[in-house]
Amino acid sequence: MTDSIASRLAAIRARIEAATAAAGRPAGSVALVAVSKTHGAAAVEEALAAGQHLFGENRVQEAQGKFPALRPAHPALRLHLIGALQTNKARDAVRAADVIESLDRPKLALALKDAMDKEGRRPGLLVQVNTGDEPQKAGVPRAAAEAFIAACLEEWALPVRGLMCIPPAEGDPRPHFAALRGLAQRFALPVLSMGMSNDFEAAIAEGATHVRVGTAIFGGR
Ligand SMILES: *Cc1c(COP(=O)(O)O)cnc(C)c1O
Repeated sequence: MTDSIASRLAAIRARIEAATAAAGRPAGSVALVAVSKTHGAAAVEEALAAGQHLFGENRVQEAQGKFPALRPAHPALRLHLIGALQTNKARDAVRAADVIESLDRPKLALALKDAMDKEGRRPGLLVQVNTGDEPQKAGVPRAAAEAFIAACLEEWALPVRGLMCIPPAEGDPRPHFAALRGLAQRFALPVLSMGMSNDFEAAIAEGATHVRVGTAIFGGR
């Protein structure tokens, strides 16, 4: 058994396809976001060499340090920002990201709108929902989610493509994934980013279109 990034990627891809088939969903309908936070550019290059082009990063600054230099040689590279975002980083985020998955409050929505106007660049957005209503966690509270999504789409005309969640660390994640799917269906949003190293198969069973996997590909942090 080898323990390279390439072999781990292959194993994760196989598990994604098996879970997709088991759920009766079309092959290739779940995208893998390889979460490279804390791992250096060499690890990202190893993944790129293994055919992985979609990456996730938590911090704008870390993403800026790694990805712009890789883009010219890898035009298919796509970057999702998945971490809590401060409004004063909105402009950097709009510049760096292809998708921002952590839209969770009106102030950030307005900052992103302003940044998109100024940059002339419109990365896709996902609304992060705090499905467990955990006080320490980012994401719009469940009770406020519908009104917030509606405002993003209608009032601010933001390019919201879907929803993202991180279920509580303890307990069964599936009800959280199912709740996120139900919410996305109400707005006909196609993208569901849910599932990480420990629970991506359950997320695929509940309709994930994107799974965000870090540790199982790049190792511990
Ligand atoms: C770190 C992180 C992941 C990846 O988590 P692993 O357990 O390492 O797979 C996924 N989503 C978000 C938002 C993260 O911060």
